Formats: sequence, structure tokens, C-alpha cells
Amino acid sequence: MDASLLHGSGPQALRNFNLFTKAQHIQWLTRHSPAYLTVRPDWFEVALVHAAACKEPLPEIQQILTYGATATDSLRRKARQWLGASVRHRYTCPECGPLAFQCPRSDAHLHVAVGSVILEVVDSSGQLVPNAKPGEQPKTGRVLVTALHQYATPLVRYDTGDTAALHPSCPGCGV
Ligand SMILES: [Zn+2]
Repeated sequence: MDASLLHGSGPQALRNFNLFTKAQHIQWLTRHSPAYLTVRPDWFEVALVHAAACKEPLPEIQQILTYGATATDSLRRKARQWLGASVRHRYTCPECGPLAFQCPRSDAHLHVAVGSVILEVVDSSGQLVPNAKPGEQPKTGRVLVTALHQYATPLVRYDTGDTAALHPSCPGCGV
């Protein structure tokens, strides 16, 4: 059966960033052409630019799932033009994993993983930022995370150090 994220099937491979050079990772990807790649976007863009500058063959990939840093427009363009891949981003924190997933209709917005976490946005005094009224831009603030399935080490109103704005509905798709 072909690899599929939908069905969780197909072969998977994990590669340690530190055991190989960026060029060796790109060569491995080109040899195996995985349908899906999960990778940090900042690391991958540097590796891609290096491979392109060295005129290395580049892999064909259907979709790149990113985490851990911002997936830039620059990476999205390179992935589309050079690899034929779309980029889907997840907002994560190392302490509890995925917090939000990229909107299916917008690169600029994320949907909170409401089954796994409660995300709150607070101002500099720790007070909840009030919901925006219709047509109003929501105010930004610090992100606090409460993990709903973290049994060993509970995470309650944990300050990620990130800044975000909560919209009453997604501007990208209306949900
Ligand atoms: Zn959306």
C-alpha cells in the first residue's frame, strides 16, 4: 500500500539530523522520494538552498509537514517550484506537541487543536485579551497553553513565550 497520512500506513523512516550532513539528507530524500516529509522548516530551507547551489538533484515530495519554527513564504515557494510539494504547518511546543494546524485554505492562519489543548491569549498583566467584535482585528498577546491529555506532567496555563491573536472564526476559511 502506498504511504498515506490519512490511513497512517506505508513505510516510515526517521533520520537523525546530527548523523548526516545536510547534503547527505537531501541525497537520501532524492534517492527515496518520500510522499511526505516532516521536518523543521528553517533547517530544510537551508539544506534545499545549499543543494540547489551545488546543483544536486532535488527530491519529488507531495507534502512537507513542518513544525518548530515558522514556515516562511520563501520556503513554500521553493517547495512548490523545486520539489512539487505543498507545505502544511503545525504550531507546536516541545512540552506538549501540536497546538494548532494550518488552515486548509490559508497559509497565514492556524486552527487550534481544541481536542488536545486550550489556548488563551493574555495581555502583559496576564488578563485575557477580550474577543474581537465582528469586523475588528483581534489584539495580540502572549500564548498560554493548557494541555488536556498530559498526565505525567500537567501543563496548566503554560506561557510558551509566543505571541498570537485569537479570531472568533478563521479568516482563512470561516470556520
Ligand atoms: Zn481556516
